[in-house]
Amino acid sequence: MINLQFMSSKTRKIPCKGKDFKKAAESLVKAGHMSHKKGWVPATSGNFSIKVSDECIAITVSGKHKGKLEKNDIMPVDASGKSLDGRKPSAETPIHTMIYMLYPEIRCILHTHSIFATMLSKYTGRELVLDDYELLKAFQGIQTHATALKVPVFINDQDTKRLAEIVREQLSGTELCFGFLIEGHGLYTWGTDIEDTERHLEAFEFLFECEILKMKAGLK
Ligand SMILES: [Zn+2]
Repeated sequence: MINLQFMSSKTRKIPCKGKDFKKAAESLVKAGHMSHKKGWVPATSGNFSIKVSDECIAITVSGKHKGKLEKNDIMPVDASGKSLDGRKPSAETPIHTMIYMLYPEIRCILHTHSIFATMLSKYTGRELVLDDYELLKAFQGIQTHATALKVPVFINDQDTKRLAEIVREQLSGTELCFGFLIEGHGLYTWGTDIEDTERHLEAFEFLFECEILKMKAGLK
């Protein structure tokens, strides 16, 4: 339900509610249900978005259970993360908008809180390197297992604007990476469309599980 009381005359204009926005909302709902089934977004955690246009991002509303996500739980924000319908977007919206500004070709971001991502982020230092896995070829543009995929790990921060700035500073000027971890928190991954992003998410989760099993077995 849109709360008209809190809508200024400026926010009443909703430039992104056409068929592209609806299609994005449908895709994000499906991604939410899939991620919940896999156990990657427990207890209302996680947030998902699609860049519909330069001035319109479809993103999950704050605090919604991803297994029960419905189309109306996807709301529009502008490129700076400002609500375009008066509702409150995810608390981690500043991280999404920072990624879209940093990488203009990216159109979708999925953020999850899986057990393996959370555990690995606590015990792997400031960078995780995934190498010599056939599944690395699931990442767009990687054509061989003989690749070292670097995943930065950032210290968690409840001030998501500050955290977004720290991530932006570190990732600026580096080659496009496929995601990062936040310590004790979870994974951010992205792609040029939702299919690529879901594939990256699935590949990361598989590889994180492999790394945890390797640690558990004391293997190097
Ligand atoms: Zn989170």
